[in-house]
Amino acid sequence: MKFYFPDSQDLVSPAYDFLRDEYPAHRVRQRDDRYAHEVLADAPYHGILVSKSIVDGSIKGAGKYSGAQRARLYRMGVHRFFRLPRGVETLGDNGAFNYIDEPVPPVTATETLDFYEECGFDAGVSTDHVIFGYEPDATEKSADPEWVERRKLTLRLAEDFISLTNDRRTRVQPVGAAQGWSPKSFADSVKALQEMGYGRIALGGMVPLRTDQILACLAQISTILVPGTELHLLGINRIDAMDRFSELGVTSFDSTSAFRQAFMDDRKNYHTSERAYVAIRVPQVDGNPTLKRAILAGSVSQRDALTAEREALKALRAFDGTPAGRQGCLDALGAYEVVCQGKKSYLDAYAETLEAAPWRVCPCSICQEHGVEVAIFRGTERNKRRGFHNLSVLRQQMGQLVHSRAAGTSLADANT
Ligand SMILES: [Zn+2]
Repeated sequence: MKFYFPDSQDLVSPAYDFLRDEYPAHRVRQRDDRYAHEVLADAPYHGILVSKSIVDGSIKGAGKYSGAQRARLYRMGVHRFFRLPRGVETLGDNGAFNYIDEPVPPVTATETLDFYEECGFDAGVSTDHVIFGYEPDATEKSADPEWVERRKLTLRLAEDFISLTNDRRTRVQPVGAAQGWSPKSFADSVKALQEMGYGRIALGGMVPLRTDQILACLAQISTILVPGTELHLLGINRIDAMDRFSELGVTSFDSTSAFRQAFMDDRKNYHTSERAYVAIRVPQVDGNPTLKRAILAGSVSQRDALTAEREALKALRAFDGTPAGRQGCLDALGAYEVVCQGKKSYLDAYAETLEAAPWRVCPCSICQEHGVEVAIFRGTERNKRRGFHNLSVLRQQMGQLVHSRAAGTSLADANT
């Protein structure tokens, strides 16, 4: 089982000063900042997935790339742009979620393949149009006509795409996109794609589905799956079900969730292979809108706020793993919570995080270097590093999958 990390230009500054919360004076982002595969000892993924709409922009506006970054990606090619270690693969797609509301995709199969070829991707997904709904019993006749049209359109575009790759004798491996609203419609799409000549197929639009619904689709697909056809799950990370997915033909997936939970989730911020912990919130006084308003309104003194923030950080950095040290942290965090006037308290969850103190034993190079800072929810440098740490935990979990081991495709192998 292979894991691809969807790129969103998430980098960290290796020279960031955690004590002063300052960037180095002469930092040049693209030159100095580092991707997850550069700050962890081993790349935490087998490949990266880059969406055309993130690079080139889409209907909804500009992408995540500046004009200069975009030009560099096209000029240098995807492997050099990302400074990828040998063995880390690249997969392109259109980022169909960015044009989900449009009647038809705003890109052609030609433009899609142009993007993959110019950037030098190893593989690329055919142009698709997401069906955002699941009705297991709906037939071609009873399903929403728009879904039926989107599935047909996706197959037509896949046909255009593979014939273009043949005409151009491209080095980009074509990956056919399958859409559907039910096990049967997905299986029909996969069957059609196999007949067109695709040996690798990406299943789209499954993000909102429950695991049992995904399994139902995979079970149906497995009845028509030609031996050797590889299935990729777009945007899906259900580690508990990965072994079952694998049994049904899935060979790869991509997902940002392990990374994003570090700073988007209310509770599951710091992952370990057993469970997830809350990260300890110590927001910057001048970066916290509620606190700023309270200071401006005169209900909180700025000096008190800065003192409470400093004391919280001091206690965490001094934390030695003892019960007394833990209580000292909780007292300081509690005092800062009062100042911040948040709607709820996280102190009970902090007690669990501190009791486990997983960063003290995590072998990843980020926890080894930064220790407790990785567990502090504060600013992009700590939060993204925690996301990278989570990716390394996912990598470890994948190495423990039965199928991954049996197939000899564990990440440890890929990184050697
Ligand atoms: Zn770690």
